[in-house]
Amino acid sequence: QKYQSVALIIGVTGIVGNSLAEILPLSDTPGGPWKVYGVARRPRPSWNADHPIEYIQCDISNPEDTQSKLTLLADVTHVFYVTWASRYTEIENCETNGEMFKNVLNAIIPNCPNLSHICLQTGRKHYHGPFELFGEVGHDTPHHEGLPRLSVPNFYYTLEDILFEEVKKKEKLTWSVHRPGLIFGFSPYSLMNIIASLCVYAAICKHEGLKLKFPGVKSAWDGYSDCSDADLVAEHQIWASVDPNAKNEAFDVSNGDVFKWKHLWGILAEEFEVEAEEFDEKKKRWRLEEMMKDKGEIWDEIVKENGLVPNKLEQVGGWWFVDIVLSGECPLDTMNKSKEYGFLGFRNSKKAFISWIDKVKAYKIVP
Ligand code: NDP
Repeated sequence: QKYQSVALIIGVTGIVGNSLAEILPLSDTPGGPWKVYGVARRPRPSWNADHPIEYIQCDISNPEDTQSKLTLLADVTHVFYVTWASRYTEIENCETNGEMFKNVLNAIIPNCPNLSHICLQTGRKHYHGPFELFGEVGHDTPHHEGLPRLSVPNFYYTLEDILFEEVKKKEKLTWSVHRPGLIFGFSPYSLMNIIASLCVYAAICKHEGLKLKFPGVKSAWDGYSDCSDADLVAEHQIWASVDPNAKNEAFDVSNGDVFKWKHLWGILAEEFEVEAEEFDEKKKRWRLEEMMKDKGEIWDEIVKENGLVPNKLEQVGGWWFVDIVLSGECPLDTMNKSKEYGFLGFRNSKKAFISWIDKVKAYKIVP
């Protein structure tokens, strides 16, 4: 088959990587037909195996592994960088994530004569600062692309600076930066997947006969929140890859509506046939990370009883992440710039919430 474009997805089993791997090979995807390579460290999981892509196991934090495997891919035209590593401090995040990104670009830029565009996915922490400074720094909302950088370390700034330097090395090579907020998506291999984590929590409540309590604060329960659908983020990156209007720009990417967690909570409870508990602000704040400490064996039982895809609790449940997301008001952004530049995609967040839960169930990640 003759391909028009050749994608390299770094982080192909991640929350957006898996969506890109599903969407890029479709016959009506802009820029297609696409040939697709996908990179991750672990062996290819069953839920990723149906996508018609070439799967490459490679550790991009290892320069030798990256050189030996990625320099073989001389036909790549587009890079989709949708991965990250979590380290203890933000300074360490900058170092580790910067090295990973450089390893990939060092292997690809000099070896791919037709390379034309690099999509870098970062996120809304660009505007409100790293996890370790949550609530202490950050711009007023709604966030938008015209805001200046904060004067604190942020691995997103490190990645952008590497990108800006590296693209200079090749004539006509363009870039785009994509900044989602909280992502609603599928991957059980993601470091931050609120949908899969909440599904696992609800399944444990069902198994133990507990009510579904909200593990957050009042402003998260009844304030406005928004999110970024993983398929929409993938479509946004594909748009920027092929539309000349979107080159060399950074864009926020979110669904374009708002929701309240208190309205989604009943849906989650219904999906798992548990009773939702009304939020009571008089009760002391509690954390999922604490609750889940001794639930590993219970989860193993649930997996066995229901014939689920074997996954350990710490892999499918990002408890620290849910605890952070629900610890305060959601900082909203705006899609104005994307719309002005021609991207009119959107998602209905409530419908998206239900359809991702259904997908997590359909692939037997949860009962
Ligand atoms: P995920 O954690 O969902 O996925 C990461 C992917 O990269 C997986 O496929 C993983 O597979 C792979 N990977 C991890 N380390 C390596 C490595 N050393 N070598 C090769 N592959 C590797 O990624 P996200 O989409 O969540 O994150 C991408 C960016 O989006 C980050 O900057 C993040 O901060 C940002 N973001 C994420 C949000 C979210 O809700 N998830 C919200 C807003 C922004 P394996 O482990 O098998 O290698």
